[in-house]
Order: sequence, then C-alpha cells, then structure tokens
Amino acid sequence: MPPKKFFLETLVKDKGIASALKRALADDARLSYEEVLAMIYSACDDNGISPDEIREINAVLDNSKSIRNNSRIMELKRQFRNNPQQFMKYRDFPDEKLFTIIQDVQKAARLSQKCMNSLTMSYWSKPERERLLKATFNVLPNGRDSVNEIQWRFNRCWKVLNGASFQYDSQGTIMAKDHVAAAPHAGRAKKLVYISANYFLAPEVYRLGALIHEMIHHFNGVRSDAHPGGLRTDGRLPLNIPYRQAKYNPYCYQWYAVYLEQPNYTPGINFENELIIKAGK
Ligand SMILES: [Zn+2]
Repeated sequence: MPPKKFFLETLVKDKGIASALKRALADDARLSYEEVLAMIYSACDDNGISPDEIREINAVLDNSKSIRNNSRIMELKRQFRNNPQQFMKYRDFPDEKLFTIIQDVQKAARLSQKCMNSLTMSYWSKPERERLLKATFNVLPNGRDSVNEIQWRFNRCWKVLNGASFQYDSQGTIMAKDHVAAAPHAGRAKKLVYISANYFLAPEVYRLGALIHEMIHHFNGVRSDAHPGGLRTDGRLPLNIPYRQAKYNPYCYQWYAVYLEQPNYTPGINFENELIIKAGK
C-alpha cells in the first residue's frame, strides 16, 4: 500500500511540527495532544483557517490511531469539529511559544479571579492585603465603593481573558520595540493582544500581570492618556497614584496581581528595557 499523503507542507507552516507529524503518521499514526494542538494552531494565519485546512486536519485526526484512546485529544477534536474558527484565538505563535501563552492566559484568568476574591470583605483580616491595596490603588478597605470598582474590573478580566485573542509579533513590526505586549484599539471587540518576543523572556508572574494590564486597556477604551497618573514599569511600591487615576491605570491592576501572587517579587527591574538588552536589540 502506498504511503498516505497528508499534504502537511501546506497545512503546517512550522517545519518542525510538519516533520514530527509526518514521522508520526508514517510510523503508526500516533499523535500527542501537543502535536494535534500545534497542527491546528499553525493553520491559523492572516487568512483564517481555510476549508482546505479544516478538511486536511480532519483527515489527519481521522487517521490517527491514538486519538480514540485519548480523551483530551477526543475533546479537542470535538471542539475543532464544532467550531474550527475558535482556534483563531492564538495567531502566529510557533509551537514552543504556543504552550506558554495558552497556559499564561489560563493562569492570568485564574489570577484575576484570585484578585477579585482577595477584595471581598471577608478576606480583610490580613494587614498585608490592606497594605497592598493602599500601595497600588491608594485606597483603604473601608473605601468600599472604590474596592467594589476594582473588584468589578478584576471580575471582568477573569471572565474576558479566556475569550480574548492573541497575536504574536515575532519580528517586532506591529508594536513599539520596547513593548512586551499591547492592546490595539482596533482589536477592542475581540480583546486582541499583541505579544512580542521579549514577553517570553520575562518571568511568569510578570507575564500574567502584563496580560491583565492589556485587558484593562481594552476596558478603558480609547483615552487621551492610556496610563493616567503615569507609567509604573518597575513595580516599585507604593505606586503613588491618586485613586481617581489609579482605577484607570493598568499598572495598578498589574502590580496588585503580581504582588498578590508573589509577595516577595523583586521590584526595580524595568523588564521592558531589560528584555531588549537580553534579546540583543
Ligand atoms: Zn499599558
């Protein structure tokens, strides 16, 4: 029997994934969850997932022997059959970065939820929680109206992050060179966030804070001042921004989240500049 043709060169843009898939299919048609995911996401490009690509991915999935024994892949297959376009959520990420960004988005959503819960009245037994709120938003827990507003935004962040879209700016051509991420106004409806190569050099807790930061930009909409009260890139506390500005300043949410997750976070490093040096730009 002649070997089956899977047309992977056209379907899968990443050469590494294509050859891994070819080996898997030529050998015993066994695919890992990660390989299936990478195959689907690598079909997501400027033109979306075309009908040809959908047909080819389905052919690969139907031919893989391992899938029916793997409940995670079966679920993924079901989701893909159901709505292939939903996978446009992550665009242009190479496979080794794809898994990081997928995990980061899930973790950032959970961290937003944790921030929201941390602002519930019953949690106010810890003095360090009170200090953090004062140091980031310049409010005290008894300022319930302010706390409710902050809480509401973290709640929204939690709900919206999992439905947001992400695009990898591998060459640094879409956004300003010193950015790790950006929230384009035009992508507000889709909650689109651009992610730079530098993003992946930052520690995890910083990355999660950055994703929350970009969501807050989308909630704010178009403003003449994107960071009311100023930039706070290095995370030194207190941020010293009056609450009327802090409630719109993405840095306040970013650093509240970072320090809630990692109270011993080391401030003072400006990752956006630091990362450019490391990346050799
Ligand atoms: Zn910003």
